[in-house]
Amino acid sequence: MQLPNTLRKFQLKSTPCRTEVLQLFFDNDHALSNAFIEKNISSSFDRVTVYRTLKSFEEKGLIHKVLDDNGITKYALCQDCSTHHHHHEHVHFKCETCGQTTCIESVDIPEVKLPKGYKVKERNLLIQGVCEQCI
Ligand SMILES: [Zn+2]
Ligand SMILES: [Zn+2]
Ligand SMILES: [Zn+2]
Repeated sequence: MQLPNTLRKFQLKSTPCRTEVLQLFFDNDHALSNAFIEKNISSSFDRVTVYRTLKSFEEKGLIHKVLDDNGITKYALCQDCSTHHHHHEHVHFKCETCGQTTCIESVDIPEVKLPKGYKVKERNLLIQGVCEQCI
Protein backbone atom coordinates (compact mmCIF):
# COMPACT_ATOMS: atom_id res chain seq x y z
CA MET A 1 0.00 0.00 0.00
CA GLN A 2 1.21 3.46 -0.90
CA LEU A 3 0.69 6.25 1.56
CA PRO A 4 -0.79 9.04 -0.61
CA ASN A 5 -2.92 6.52 -2.49
CA THR A 6 -4.29 5.11 0.73
CA LEU A 7 -5.36 8.52 2.02
CA ARG A 8 -6.98 9.29 -1.33
CA LYS A 9 -8.71 5.93 -1.45
CA PHE A 10 -10.30 6.65 1.92
CA GLN A 11 -11.24 10.18 0.86
CA LEU A 12 -8.92 11.79 3.35
CA LYS A 13 -7.04 14.92 2.43
CA SER A 14 -3.33 14.45 2.89
CA THR A 15 -2.03 16.45 5.86
CA PRO A 16 1.39 16.21 7.51
CA CYS A 17 -0.12 14.66 10.65
CA ARG A 18 -2.22 12.09 8.77
CA THR A 19 0.78 11.10 6.68
CA GLU A 20 3.03 10.57 9.69
CA VAL A 21 0.45 8.67 11.69
CA LEU A 22 -0.44 6.41 8.76
CA GLN A 23 3.25 5.73 8.14
CA LEU A 24 3.54 4.54 11.76
CA PHE A 25 0.72 2.05 11.20
CA PHE A 26 2.44 0.81 8.03
CA ASP A 27 5.76 0.43 9.85
CA ASN A 28 4.36 -1.58 12.78
CA ASP A 29 2.45 -4.82 12.57
CA HIS A 30 0.91 -4.46 16.02
CA ALA A 31 -1.78 -2.19 17.43
CA LEU A 32 -0.63 1.30 18.44
CA SER A 33 -1.59 3.23 21.56
CA ASN A 34 -2.11 6.95 21.66
CA ALA A 35 1.01 7.34 23.78
CA PHE A 36 3.10 5.37 21.28
CA ILE A 37 1.83 7.47 18.38
CA GLU A 38 2.49 10.76 20.18
CA LYS A 39 5.99 9.64 21.07
CA ASN A 40 6.86 8.60 17.53
CA ILE A 41 5.66 11.51 15.41
CA SER A 42 6.95 15.07 15.26
CA SER A 43 6.32 16.94 18.44
CA SER A 44 4.82 19.81 16.44
CA PHE A 45 1.46 18.00 16.38
CA ASP A 46 -0.59 18.54 19.51
CA ARG A 47 -2.81 15.96 21.17
CA VAL A 48 -5.98 17.32 19.62
CA THR A 49 -4.60 17.01 16.10
CA VAL A 50 -3.52 13.43 16.76
CA TYR A 51 -6.91 12.65 18.29
CA ARG A 52 -8.74 14.09 15.27
CA THR A 53 -6.50 12.19 12.90
CA LEU A 54 -7.26 8.88 14.60
CA LYS A 55 -10.96 9.74 14.70
CA SER A 56 -11.04 10.46 10.96
CA PHE A 57 -9.10 7.27 10.18
CA GLU A 58 -11.54 5.28 12.26
CA GLU A 59 -14.61 6.86 10.67
CA LYS A 60 -13.35 6.11 7.17
CA GLY A 61 -12.62 2.47 7.92
CA LEU A 62 -8.84 2.73 7.83
CA ILE A 63 -8.19 1.71 11.45
CA HIS A 64 -10.22 0.10 14.22
CA LYS A 65 -10.12 0.18 18.00
CA VAL A 66 -8.44 -2.61 19.88
CA LEU A 67 -9.24 -2.88 23.57
CA ASP A 68 -6.24 -3.77 25.66
CA ASP A 69 -6.27 -5.58 28.99
CA ASN A 70 -5.52 -2.52 31.10
CA GLY A 71 -8.32 -0.47 29.59
CA ILE A 72 -6.05 1.38 27.17
CA THR A 73 -7.45 1.78 23.67
CA LYS A 74 -5.13 0.90 20.85
CA TYR A 75 -5.67 1.15 17.12
CA ALA A 76 -4.83 -1.25 14.31
CA LEU A 77 -5.06 -1.06 10.53
CA CYS A 78 -8.18 -2.54 8.97
CA GLN A 79 -7.75 -5.16 6.30
CA ASP A 80 -10.76 -4.58 4.14
CA CYS A 81 -12.97 -1.85 5.54
CA SER A 82 -14.68 1.26 4.27
CA THR A 83 -16.96 3.91 5.74
CA HIS A 84 -19.96 1.70 5.04
CA HIS A 85 -18.48 -1.64 5.90
CA HIS A 86 -16.49 -1.44 9.11
CA HIS A 87 -16.90 -4.68 11.00
CA HIS A 88 -14.51 -6.51 13.22
CA GLU A 89 -15.24 -9.98 14.35
CA HIS A 90 -11.67 -11.14 14.72
CA VAL A 91 -9.71 -12.01 17.81
CA HIS A 92 -6.97 -9.80 19.26
CA PHE A 93 -3.92 -11.22 20.94
CA LYS A 94 -1.87 -9.57 23.65
CA CYS A 95 1.62 -10.87 24.29
CA GLU A 96 2.62 -10.68 27.92
CA THR A 97 6.32 -10.74 27.04
CA CYS A 98 6.63 -7.92 24.48
CA GLY A 99 3.36 -6.23 25.44
CA GLN A 100 2.21 -5.92 21.84
CA THR A 101 -1.38 -6.47 20.77
CA THR A 102 -2.01 -7.84 17.29
CA CYS A 103 -5.01 -8.61 15.08
CA ILE A 104 -5.61 -12.26 14.37
CA GLU A 105 -7.73 -11.69 11.28
CA SER A 106 -7.98 -15.37 10.51
CA VAL A 107 -9.76 -16.21 13.77
CA ASP A 108 -13.35 -15.09 14.29
CA ILE A 109 -14.90 -14.37 17.67
CA PRO A 110 -17.12 -17.38 18.42
CA GLU A 111 -20.86 -16.93 18.51
CA VAL A 112 -22.11 -16.01 22.00
CA LYS A 113 -25.75 -16.49 22.98
CA LEU A 114 -26.99 -13.75 25.28
CA PRO A 115 -30.13 -13.86 27.44
CA LYS A 116 -33.29 -12.27 26.07
CA GLY A 117 -33.34 -8.49 26.29
CA TYR A 118 -29.64 -7.96 25.60
CA LYS A 119 -28.59 -6.24 22.40
CA VAL A 120 -25.04 -6.58 21.10
CA LYS A 121 -23.38 -3.46 19.76
CA GLU A 122 -19.74 -4.38 19.71
CA ARG A 123 -17.81 -7.55 20.32
CA ASN A 124 -14.24 -7.73 21.59
CA LEU A 125 -12.18 -10.75 22.40
CA LEU A 126 -8.67 -10.38 23.75
CA ILE A 127 -6.56 -13.48 24.16
CA GLN A 128 -3.45 -13.16 26.29
CA GLY A 129 -0.33 -15.28 26.10
CA VAL A 130 3.01 -15.34 24.32
CA CYS A 131 3.30 -14.38 20.65
CA GLU A 132 5.21 -16.28 17.95
CA GLN A 133 8.12 -13.86 18.14
CA CYS A 134 8.60 -14.28 21.88
CA ILE A 135 8.17 -18.02 22.21
ZN1 LIG B 1 -12.48 -1.62 9.99
ZN1 LIG C 1 5.61 -11.06 22.02
ZN1 LIG D 1 -8.04 -6.05 14.81
